[in-house]
Amino acid sequence: MNLIRHWINGKEHQADPERTGDVYDPATGEIASQVAFASVAEVDIAVQAASDAFPGWRDTPVTARQKVMFRFRDLVESHLDDIAKLITTEHGKTFDDARGEVNRGLEVIEFATAIPHLLKGDYSEQVSRSVDTYTIRQPLGVVAGITPFNFPAMVPMWMYPMAIACGNTFVLKPSEKDPSPSMLSAELFAEAGLPDGVLNVVHGDKVAVDRILEHRDIKAVSFVGSTPIARYVYTTGSGNGKRVQALAGAKNHMIVLPDADMELAADSAVSAGYGSAGERCMAISVIVAVGGAADRLIPLIEDRIAKLKVGPGLEAGAEMGPLITREHRDKVAGYIDSGVDAGATLVTDGRDFSVKGYEDGFFLGPTLFDNVTRDMTIYQDEIFGPVLSVVRTDRYQDAIELINDNPWGNGTAVFTNDGGAARKFQNEIQVGMVGINLPIPVPLAFYSFGGWKESIFGDHSIYGPEGIAFYTKPKVVISRWPDPMHRGVDLGFPQHG
Ligand code: NAD
Repeated sequence: MNLIRHWINGKEHQADPERTGDVYDPATGEIASQVAFASVAEVDIAVQAASDAFPGWRDTPVTARQKVMFRFRDLVESHLDDIAKLITTEHGKTFDDARGEVNRGLEVIEFATAIPHLLKGDYSEQVSRSVDTYTIRQPLGVVAGITPFNFPAMVPMWMYPMAIACGNTFVLKPSEKDPSPSMLSAELFAEAGLPDGVLNVVHGDKVAVDRILEHRDIKAVSFVGSTPIARYVYTTGSGNGKRVQALAGAKNHMIVLPDADMELAADSAVSAGYGSAGERCMAISVIVAVGGAADRLIPLIEDRIAKLKVGPGLEAGAEMGPLITREHRDKVAGYIDSGVDAGATLVTDGRDFSVKGYEDGFFLGPTLFDNVTRDMTIYQDEIFGPVLSVVRTDRYQDAIELINDNPWGNGTAVFTNDGGAARKFQNEIQVGMVGINLPIPVPLAFYSFGGWKESIFGDHSIYGPEGIAFYTKPKVVISRWPDPMHRGVDLGFPQHG
């Protein structure tokens, strides 16, 4: 059986692990590999490697760091299909979708190639007599990233290219469910000329995460995952004096107004609801249909669901793959049971679904509920599966209030042809990323990604300009050259003029 090892100091860590986890091929339901689970001592070895590498990397000229980023960018592009294949094999999403994921990660690497420009500070001359003031941004030291299963290449790439370009060294703890894309990416970064120890990958579970959160040499932690773990990582890490950004779960609503282009709304709802089997933090899981919209929209969605091709992600033409584990598949099926019990109208039932030749795979068919209300568990919880709920409201204002009352605020969308209605939405909605006639508003790398409310803990969004701010400390310098005029003691507070 293939064993996926840690990547420490530029090579695979050879010691046999005390504990391992199973990595599945979700399409077949079979165990594909074992992954090493790091002990406290192994996390410490990785942090030591990163600490040792920090002074050299910090002092490497920013233009030389940039050249490494350019080479890494080219290697990721030329190995895009290899990374995507690993994603599909361990996560289950379709190969096309996996390629899209790597491309979105590549965007962040491309943004990071501009690091000499992005790290430029400010300079003000003559703020007082012979006095100039300037700012510089310096790296933090060793920083860590803890990432979820659902984007095993892209979400780590939201973090380590930015952190490393800024001059930090990095310890990544990817999801133990699909660890291989991070290993290939680390190998490619080494091939690009990244010095040993600048990027380390340790695999594992709570043991590794807890050690990261308490380790004194780790200065900052980026986390992406579910809300309960994000809250835990944020409170524990910041309690230990670290800078922490923790991006969390979601329940993304899409309002459809009666004047919307219904064909577009139906295409968007199906794409954003069932893409990656609903296992995206920006997936649409609730459609809020206003006025008469539902009666026109639902038949269009049903037609599209009937034509969706669900199957193994590597099979040509597959549009939706399996879920990540059997346990998660069963949990999502349990939510469908609870929606039926609570009295929602089950329009399309994906529970009894299997793919010929892949009967043991973790498949579930696309599922659609109508007449969902806010007291139902299927409305309240993040299901993270191919289940779309339609909530009906009479008034647009009620739809907006529903979203604003929801504890999460990652992404949202409105479908309308009325510019005034769209503007009201972008102005009033309490959500961090907003789509207008577009269901998955994931910002490009030169903006930053982050939700509001329970979808994020910490002050900074991830990647883009906010990523630079997170991974650097500002320093302000006030200098006086020369100062022949001023001599003598002055106990007054410094004043200018
Ligand atoms: P998860 O919270 O279970 O796991 C995330 C990471 O935390 C993993 O590396 C895991 O090993 C670790 N972890 C799990 N349990 C832990 C524990 N008890 N103590 C310490 N560490 C623990 O999340 P997941 O199931 O891998 O990913 C899906 C979730 O991530 C969804 O809620 C989704 O919305 C969210 N997500 C959010 C964003 C965003 O940008 N807001 C992006 C992607 C995914």
